Parts: sequence; C-alpha cells; structure tokens
Amino acid sequence: MTPLEYDRSHIWHPYASLGNPPPVLHAKSASGTEIELADGSKLVDAVSSWWCVAHGHNHPAIVDAIRRQSERLCHVMFGGFTHNPAVELAERLAKIAPAGLDRVFFADSGSISVEVAAKMAVQYQNALGHPERNRLVALKGGYHGDTSLCMALSDPDGMHVLFKGIMTKHFFAEKPRIPTDGEWDPSDAASLERVFAEHGDKIAAVVCEPVFQAANAMNFYHPGYLREMRRLCDEHGVLLIFDEIAAGLHRTGPLWAHSRAGVAPDVMTVGKALTGGHITLAATLASAKVADVISAGSPSAFMHGPTYMANPLACAAACASLDLFAAGGYEAKVAAIEQRFRSGLSPLRSLPNVRDVRVLGAAGVVEVERLPAQDDICRIIREHGVWLRPFANFIYAMPPLVSDELTVDRVVAAIADLASAPPGPPPQDGDFHE
Ligand code: PMP
Repeated sequence: MTPLEYDRSHIWHPYASLGNPPPVLHAKSASGTEIELADGSKLVDAVSSWWCVAHGHNHPAIVDAIRRQSERLCHVMFGGFTHNPAVELAERLAKIAPAGLDRVFFADSGSISVEVAAKMAVQYQNALGHPERNRLVALKGGYHGDTSLCMALSDPDGMHVLFKGIMTKHFFAEKPRIPTDGEWDPSDAASLERVFAEHGDKIAAVVCEPVFQAANAMNFYHPGYLREMRRLCDEHGVLLIFDEIAAGLHRTGPLWAHSRAGVAPDVMTVGKALTGGHITLAATLASAKVADVISAGSPSAFMHGPTYMANPLACAAACASLDLFAAGGYEAKVAAIEQRFRSGLSPLRSLPNVRDVRVLGAAGVVEVERLPAQDDICRIIREHGVWLRPFANFIYAMPPLVSDELTVDRVVAAIADLASAPPGPPPQDGDFHE
C-alpha cells in the first residue's frame, strides 16, 4: 500500500467520510507561503492551514525557538510545575491583551480554550451565589469549536445539528446583519435584547466571535453590535467572552478584531496564529475581577487542567510568534492584502453564480449560489497552484499575513476561476463543513 492508499482506507480527515473519502494532497514540506507536495509541485497556502500560519510556514525564528526549547524541556506537567516559556508568554499576552485581561489559562486547542472560558463564567456566577446562571448566549452563524460545549455554542442549525440531542440548550440571538462598514442601527441587536429580557437571570455569559463570524457564516459585522453586547452584559451582571481565535492577531487588520468597538471583554480566547501555526496552543485570558471572584468561591480552584497544558515547546513557539507580530508591521501588511482583495474580488459580483463579495483585512469571501463540482475545484487548485478549501456557499481565502502582491494576485485569480466555473451539484455529505 502506498501512504496515500493507507490514508484513504484508515485515517479520518476533518469532516470527511472514510467510506467515500474526498481527495487529499500529499504534503512533504512547507516554507513561507507555500506547501510542497510529494510530487515536488507547490501550492500557495491561501487558507493559512486553517488561518493559523500567519508568518508563513516553517518560519526560521519559530522553528529555532522550538528547537532550542526541545534541548532543555519538551514537556512537564503544569500541575505542580511552572517554566520560563509559560511565564514569559503569560506576561507578554497580558501586555498586548485588552486592558486588565492579565490572568491566563493555557489550553491545548482553541476548542478547549472556549470550554475553559465558558466554565470560568459558570464558576464565576456560582461563586457569586448564582448557580442558576448556568446558560450562555451565543450568536446564530457563530462557530466556537467541535467539543460538546463548543458545539452547543455554535450555530444551532449549522454543522453540528446531528448532535443536538447531547447538547445543553443555550440561548441564541440572530446573526448580526449590518456589515462592518455599514451604518449602525441598534435594531440589529434587538433579538439579543429579547434574549436578555426573557432569560437574563439564567445567563452566565455571552460569547461571540467579534466582528468576524468565520467557520459557520464568513460574516463580517458591525462593531456596534459588540457595544450593545457590552451594555447588556453590564446591565445584567453577565460576563462577556470574545472568541478571538480566528479574528485575532491581525487577521482582520487590528491586533484584536474587537478593538474596533472600543469595548473590552471580561474573558478572551486566543489560538490559531498564536504559535504562527507551528504547534497547537491556545489561551483563555480573564480579568482580575473574574479570577478573584472564582478564587473566593468554593471550590476556590478553577476546575480544568489538560495533560499538555502550557506545553513548553508550544509556549516557546508562541513567544517567537509574538516577537514577529510585535516587529512585523502587520497592520500595514494586512491593509495591503485587503486593498488587493477588494480590487481583485469586487468585479466578481457581476458573475451569475455570485451572491456577494466581502473583504475584511486578510480575509476575502465570495459567496456563491453553488460551489463548482469537486473535480472542477481540484483542477482549478492544481492549475493555479493555489490551495483553497471552499465549503457550503463560500469560496474564501485567508492567506498568510506575509503574502506579497504577486501571491495575493495568484489567489485572486484562482478564486475568480472558481467563481466563474459552472455551478456543481447540490451540497453533498460534508460540503457544509469547514
Ligand atoms: N473558535 C473559533 C472562532 C474558531 O474559528 C475555531 C476553529 N476554527 C475554534 C474556536 C476551535 O479551535 P480548534 O480547532 O483549535 O479547537
């Protein structure tokens, strides 16, 4: 059996069937914006390997940080131990986080950091004498991960609908409609206000992806919505959690997507680009108020602790990645990508299969009536040498933030061909999943 044959018959891929597996490419190495395949051909990674490879693949500074750390300490349990990479990373995150979010919990993936944020909110309310506040509010069109609590906070009609039966019921407000550059109208948050009016005393926290609902909706929305959220949370004694896992670390332009709103959360999650896409790590950042209340409760301990919590290799990678973010002029880099996406993708609006074109920062989305057939998608990807992973009704790109003009233009050309290709059959098993 060749490795690809073994893979096809034995290994699950994300959101994929093992009985009728979709095609996979055989990656051999990667460098900068490109992935090299086993046959020697190269593809631009226009989705930054699910939005995390911000500085490019195998960045020498990050690889070197991991190598140096591996010579000293690859892992040690975080129960009963600490180490320099964790302390350094916590201090550095606190410095760049919104004011006051300087209490840090290190998680081993984005989903776990969201679980931790939700548990913090419940434990916080419990410590305040409100055990009945054990529900969260989330937004339709949102996505927060694939573990069970995260599924229960993601779009209730989205990709996790099969598991409704095992999910705790939380409350959902309608998907925000007003685009980032539109005119704010408070009626956009009317359904959120209704949820508070009806269930305010059962709510522990509100959670959302600020400004950019990524994996479920590819929706950019107005920061005014976040201000309404902050106001309602304050009025009702509810915590506000911003999930910056996809939108944070300059993906939409500013360091944090929510900074456009001029309000800060009580708890924030960060992941994906934290290590520049080199090794898995996420963090949940909380305010002193949240930490103090939890600590004064019973139990005083915060009840979570994964095996690989604060893995030293991952923390060292993240410190190197934050160095690159600090020195890199990323706002300007992202503004250049945004401008190129706008000029290159906007003309696609006139195509018959195109419903909408949206761009924010280094994220470009072409919403179509129907995706092309799988064979056409594969052919166009190979012809252009550009890796894209369209899903549901979205052809989108989120390339590494270091992509130069030529690279962005290649991505735009590939998207243009996909958007112009004949629409394929109605969505199949798995097509709805990012
Ligand atoms: N939150 C958001 C906003 C995400 O986009 C994702 C991943 N796409 C997650 C949480 C879950 O992160 P992970 O896949 O690392 O568990």
